[in-house]
Amino acid sequence: MADTKTKTKAKTKTKTIIIVEDNALNMKMFDDLLLNNGYETIPMGDGSTLIETARERHPDLIIMDIQLPDRSGLELTRLLKDDRQLKTIPVIAVTAFAMPADRARILKFGCDDYISKPISPVGFLKAIAKHLA
Ligand code: MN
Repeated sequence: MADTKTKTKAKTKTKTIIIVEDNALNMKMFDDLLLNNGYETIPMGDGSTLIETARERHPDLIIMDIQLPDRSGLELTRLLKDDRQLKTIPVIAVTAFAMPADRARILKFGCDDYISKPISPVGFLKAIAKHLA
């Protein structure tokens, strides 16, 4: 217990983050930001292979766009949270909706947190670090 902090600081394992985002510009921004800050990323333009990939790669966190072409990010989050093996992975929703009702809905679907678009790089990284701690 006592050496947990020093251990983490001295030898931090690279954290892997799945990014689900259909907008190419947003994806590039999220991906660059995470890579430049020492994370490993798995970018996905939709959620079609999300469950399988999450099972194989054991990501530390998932960044989830809400508006996606096929299944919405909320539906995908519910699938993850209904899965015994995957439900512990933190999911951070990224959304243009920021009204209180939307926030409640996002959390109801099982998202652990949400970030409003347009994102601020500092806020984005802070939210991620918080859920990886
Ligand atoms: Mn989108």
